[in-house]
Amino acid sequence: MSAPNDTNSWGRILTHKRTATDFCADLLTDAGHPGSGDYLPFGNGRSYGDSCHNDQGTLIDCRKHTRILSSDFDAGILRAQSGLMLVDLLDQLKETGWFVPVVPGTKFVTLGGMVANDIHGKNHGHRGTIGCHVKQLSLLRSDGQSMICSADQNNEMFAATIGGMGLTGYIEWVELSLLPVSSHLVLETKTPFNCLNDGLALIAQDDQEHEYSVAWIDSLATGKQLGRGILISGDHTEVETAPRYGIPRLSVPFTPPVPLVAGPALAAFNKLYYWRNANQQEPHLASPDSFFFPLDMVGGWNRLYGPGGLHQHQSALPLDRGEQSLRALLETCQKAGHGSFLTVLKRFGANQSPGLMSFPTEGYTLTLDFPNKGAKTYALLNALDAIVLKVGGRINPYKDCRMSAQTFRTAFPNWRSLEGMRDPAMMSDFWRRVSVGTTSQT
Ligand SMILES: Cc1cc2nc3c(=O)[nH]c(=O)nc-3n(C[C@H](O)[C@H](O)[C@H](O)COP(=O)(O)OP(=O)(O)OC[C@H]3O[C@@H](n4cnc5c(N)ncnc54)[C@H](O)[C@@H]3O)c2cc1C
Repeated sequence: MSAPNDTNSWGRILTHKRTATDFCADLLTDAGHPGSGDYLPFGNGRSYGDSCHNDQGTLIDCRKHTRILSSDFDAGILRAQSGLMLVDLLDQLKETGWFVPVVPGTKFVTLGGMVANDIHGKNHGHRGTIGCHVKQLSLLRSDGQSMICSADQNNEMFAATIGGMGLTGYIEWVELSLLPVSSHLVLETKTPFNCLNDGLALIAQDDQEHEYSVAWIDSLATGKQLGRGILISGDHTEVETAPRYGIPRLSVPFTPPVPLVAGPALAAFNKLYYWRNANQQEPHLASPDSFFFPLDMVGGWNRLYGPGGLHQHQSALPLDRGEQSLRALLETCQKAGHGSFLTVLKRFGANQSPGLMSFPTEGYTLTLDFPNKGAKTYALLNALDAIVLKVGGRINPYKDCRMSAQTFRTAFPNWRSLEGMRDPAMMSDFWRRVSVGTTSQT
């Protein structure tokens, strides 16, 4: 894939005003002014909010640095430059018997972005986050030092960099342990459930039985059907066909003047999705594109949220308060008359990431997508934050562009340690807002 040059974030609420610069090793060290927070590495902008923006500085575009530096397909270890796109990595792996152990819901992310956000997938209970599979990485700091970081070498910097949102320096390359698989194809099963309690019981059982597990929730279902949905589970198959990793067949060519994912369209989508998938219960083969990356099939789908852009609210909720808080989150959206277009529920397992600031904690994670309707949306998001904080949960920083400094700091007490290890030349709008606390989006 050729490197695109868009530097917006996926939510499209904030637009980066500066031109991104191609990375060159001298940039940070010669032109950087340590202490000024002039720079931030930029992957492919699939973070939803302002953690990949630095509007008072310059973005370092990593997307031209895409080489695989070494691979050992006997041991399943691969080292690649941080700008390599996941889609290209998977394409290289499709006939090797190896897979990337943790993949997010889009293949248009860079390796550096995946590690800097310590992304999770549909198999957290089995594999944890991507950080659990990083053997070592090379980090370029603005003092000119290239540090090799691993669990044994510069281990504090290793922990700060995994999930460190680009603030500790520029990740030059990453060495990953791969997952042995018989095929990239997946045997997929869809199971409908009629209410939240049934869904949670199914998810608990399914997580033990399958590598991958995720539930779609009908955010508009009320009363006894509150939280009804479809559980989608899968395992790599024995079928040895190499898949094709495609580019989007359709794309949204322009931003409509109003969101197309609200009101009657939202109600119709929920009914149709439930009905269509509830009637597909037989296990069937699914391509990796359709199982892992269904949203990538429509290019620029984020434009459907209209000119105001899109907010994603992803929370992590402790297991023992899960049912009660999930119910409260869904009911609060309904009472506000602000339906979430795509609502996804997953279970996070007990696997600990080496990352200091990693988002997942054991329990449930609920993801809600809203078109941005200004004050009404911000009021709802603040109410959702309060529910999450009350049960000791947290909001995903790399999906956010407006949580308060207090909300962030309460849930991520390690933020001070990251600030202590931040490269002085690096800063993001997110970090300026939640750690320095000088800007606010509310
Ligand atoms: C449709 C969709 C589905 C998604 N599903 C999931 C999911 O299931 N799970 C999940 O965890 N996330 C998910 N995400 C979020 C996405 O996977 C992450 O935000 C990802 O990290 C973005 O990668 P990127 O390459 O676009 O990086 P960017 O968004 O551009 O940057 C992410 C962060 O990484 C830093 N960074 C980038 N490159 C480097 C580098 N070389 N060195 C140092 N720092 C660097 C940036 O400064 C920034 O802080 C999804 C996003 C979308 C749009």
